[in-house]
Order: sequence, then C-alpha cells, then structure tokens
Amino acid sequence: MTENLEATSMRDLLCGGVDLTMIGERLSVCGWVAKRREHGEHLAFLDVRDHSGIVQAVVDGSVDVRSEYVVRVTGTVSLRPEGTLNDRLATGEVELTDCVVEILSSAEPVPFQIDERTEVDEQVRLKYRYLDVRRERMQRNLRLRARINSTLRRAMERQGFCEVETPLLWAPTPEGAREFVVPSRLHPGEFYVLPQSPQIAKQLLMVGGFDRYFQIARCLRDEDLRADRQFEFTQLDVEASFVSQEDIFAFVAEAVLDAAEAVTGERPGAIATMTWAEALARFGTDKPDLRFAMELQDLSESFAATEVKAFAAPTVKGLRVPGGGEFTRSRLDALTDQAKALGAKGLAWFRVTADGLDSPLARFLNDEETHAVRSLDDAQVGDLVLVVADEYALASKVLGALRLTIGAPPVSEGPHRYVWITEFPLFEGVDEDGNLVSAHHPFTMPHLDDLDLIDSDPLRVRSQSYDLVLNGWELGSGSVRIHRADIQSRIFSALGISEEEAQNRFGFLLGAFKFGAPPHAGFAFGIDRLVAILAGEDNIREVIAFPKTQSGTDLMTSAPKDITERQRRELRLRTLPKA
Ligand code: ASP
Repeated sequence: MTENLEATSMRDLLCGGVDLTMIGERLSVCGWVAKRREHGEHLAFLDVRDHSGIVQAVVDGSVDVRSEYVVRVTGTVSLRPEGTLNDRLATGEVELTDCVVEILSSAEPVPFQIDERTEVDEQVRLKYRYLDVRRERMQRNLRLRARINSTLRRAMERQGFCEVETPLLWAPTPEGAREFVVPSRLHPGEFYVLPQSPQIAKQLLMVGGFDRYFQIARCLRDEDLRADRQFEFTQLDVEASFVSQEDIFAFVAEAVLDAAEAVTGERPGAIATMTWAEALARFGTDKPDLRFAMELQDLSESFAATEVKAFAAPTVKGLRVPGGGEFTRSRLDALTDQAKALGAKGLAWFRVTADGLDSPLARFLNDEETHAVRSLDDAQVGDLVLVVADEYALASKVLGALRLTIGAPPVSEGPHRYVWITEFPLFEGVDEDGNLVSAHHPFTMPHLDDLDLIDSDPLRVRSQSYDLVLNGWELGSGSVRIHRADIQSRIFSALGISEEEAQNRFGFLLGAFKFGAPPHAGFAFGIDRLVAILAGEDNIREVIAFPKTQSGTDLMTSAPKDITERQRRELRLRTLPKA
C-alpha cells in the first residue's frame, strides 16, 4: 500500500481513500455508520463514513450497530459485483469484504439525518452543531476556511509581515461600536473591554519598530447581528510603516487574490479603485455591487425649474430598471414604501411605453422633463424609470437601496467583483452635542490638500481611508494614520474630544507617539465575509463552527446565561431585575 498521512495506529486510511489500486489488500478504516442494510440473516451492508467520504463494508452474519455508531472495520478491498456499482460514491466501484467490525462507541438516535439531502431547521442545526458539522456542507466550509486562513498567512509572511498576537483583555478601542466588558475580579468595580479590533495595539507595534505586522485576529463588537455580522468575527489585521495607501492596497490585494485563487483556481484580475464620491453618485452607496449595471443618473439640471412640487428639491436622481415596465402595482407600492422608510418623501415611477410615459405624474411634466425621463440611461420601451427628489445624499441613498432590492443577486453568486473605495469623508456628520463624528476612527489621516477645511468646512474634508468591497459587502477598511501630534490634536478638538479625555482614553498611544512614531497605515478585512462569499454562502454563520443566532444566543451552550452566586460575589456584581 502507498504511504499515506491518514494512517494511525487504529486505521490504515480514510474511508474515501479506498480505491481500485488496493484490490486484494486487507485494511482498516474508522468512522461512523451512515447506513446499515440487512440482506437476509447472513449478510449486512454498512456504509462507513468519515470526513473524506463513505465506503461500503460487507459483513457476513448480522452486526449489532445502528446509525452513527463509531466503528473500526477491517476488510478486504474487493471489486463490487457487477450491477452493484454506485456512481454517486467516489468509492462506488469497490467495497470491503469479509469484514470484522469493532464497535468503538454506540450512539443514540440522532435528531436529524447526517446527510446533505435532509433539510434541517437552522435552530436544530445550531443546537446540535457538533452533529451539523459532521455533515458535508459544514465540513467543506470549515475546511475551506482553514485553507483560506493558511493562504492569507502565507501571503503576508511572504511579503515580510510578522504575526503578533495582541490582548483580548484590553482597554476601550476607538472603532465606535458598543463594547463587551469583562469585570475584573482583582480590581472589583473595574472592567476590561474586549477589543473591537487590535487598532491601537497594532499602531503601538509600529512605534515599536515592527514595520510590517499582521494578525488573524478575533474582534468583538456588541452590535445587532445580521447575515454578515456576528458579535465576534475574525479579521486579517494589517499595519505597516513607511508606506502609502497604494502599498497597503498591494499587500492586501496579494493576500485576498491568493485566497480567491486557492478556492476557485482562478486569480481575479487587479482590483479597481473608485472614490467614495463616485460610488455614491453612480451606485448610491459606499459599498457598490458592481455585478450588475443599473447606475443612478442625475436629472437635477432638467428639473431645475420644475413646476411639479414633488420634484422641487436640490437633487433629482433617476434609475432605469430594464424590463421594469412589467412590475405590478403592488411591487411598485412596496418600492415606494421602502423609499419612504429610508426617509424619502415619495417615489415617482414612469413606465416607458410606445406612447410615451405611463405614470400618475406623467401629465405634469413639461417637455424637457419628459424627454429627460424618457431617454434616461437609454431607456427602452418596456423599462421603468424611478425618480427620487431630495437632498443629494438622501436621494442617492434611497435609489441605491432600490437598485439593490430590484437587481442584486445573492451576495455569493458569481462573478466576484472587488473594488477599493477611496477618499471617504473624514467626518460622517455631527452628533447630538454638535460634535463631528469620525467616519472611520479618530486616528485617520485627513487628505493633506483638505487640512485647511477642518475648521471652515469640516464635512468636506476627505480622509486617507479606504474600504475593500466585494459583491456589495464591505470586506474591510483601513487608513493612513495620523502620526503627527499637531494634526491629531486638531482632529481631537474637531471631534469634541478634550485634551483630558484624549489623555484618559488614548493617553498610552499619544504618549507612545512622542517617542518616535513612523508614518504608518493599515487595513483589516473580515475573513468570515470573504470565506462566506468564496464558499457560496450568503450568511457568515455557515462558515463559523459555533455561531450565535440572530438574537445573540448560542443554542448549544445556552450562553449567555447566569453565573453562580460565588462568581457574583468574587466579582462584586449585583444584577438589577430584568426591565
Ligand atoms: N481597525 C479598523 C477596523 O477594524 C481597520 C483598520 O483601520 O485597520 O475596521
């Protein structure tokens, strides 16, 4: 027999590895009983399964095993008799005969069938996740994930990056999400914070001369869960010194494209870049899904002197929906409701027909307006044109969302379209106290051409930050960091962070910067999201071994749950009654 890595003292090879070259050999496999069939009293067929596949074992005499018993089977590899070949099994031409079956472990009836054909409710899958991961889908996804992790790690090491582990018990970090806190036993009344990311730690490592750092890092954020969000997630976290934004793009693209190639066998082309302003104008979002066209068009000029109240707004934007003329009234109403829920006053729709525009609003438009709508984005008879009039940002956002509702395929569906989004605004708005809010985090370097705008027109200040987007999902973000104390204090003061507060929250970082901070920049992207898309899954739960449900619980362990009275005492915690 050829040497193989699966051999252990208990087995010779994996079930899926038994093949025609081994005919006549006597060997042992271990695994779970996937199926048992009796042929009269003196013949039994067992399908024995491990993660590599299934092999059939023929046992003379009866054998007292049931589904999911763990067995060791020793038998002779034989050609299956004519007429009994199974072309659905990789091992379908052979079987083990004259088998001796040892029961290694018995099993109670399982709550669901361990195969791919049975649809199982997700709640049940999560409750018995250890059984669910015995199935092919989860085996495939988690092994794919491991392959992606190791590909990413190799790509970063090849580029001179050093992996450094940073603490999980840590102090607040500045990502802006709600944090998980951990009470300290030794310092009652004081708390650690689980890191939203290793942001500050990696910047400190730059001060520490690491030059190129990476980590496959666990990050924790107490935010509402969605298809692309869990409380804890894994990032490829990267930081480098003496680099520009373009250097970071090159490092990260190398890793991401390597991972994509490892999975699909094909290396995607170079990743294009698009400014944030362009993404908003063309797609109404900073996470454009480039797999389909339907770009937003600006109609503001044609409607500049409109007499129609519904269109009297700073911006009028239109979206052509090819073939949308067929949408039913209830579908159009649903789109209108969506537009309103996003803050629009309404949604105007026009069917393009051979006789002109068909819409309750059509007769109010003047010739120029009618022409502009009729010819929007080269509209054809049978198309639909949607129009939203509002402030620029809102009109764009609403049409961008409708574009996705109407046109976006499931996120994991090919082709995979990556794009870098650059030049995000430095500030995303103003909070209730009138202070500016960072769009990324407070250490993001402003665009050097815009420094003068920080005081005069802060919302127009562009930043040196960037996102990587794949099929409309934000894979990750990063930025060139501020390493100059003068710029950092201007930004803190614009954010309403006093000197004292800055010292209190980030004093250790600001202090470190006094001892020689190299110019540095970094990035982090969500491995769960990348793996999900590459695995063809639309929810990251499918690529996480033990995920939480949408409501943040672990159905298997029942976490979160109460702690003991003793733990409570040690931690000096008292819980208020549930509200
Ligand atoms: N820490 C950032 C994040 O987690 C990424 C970065 O700026 O490197 O989004």
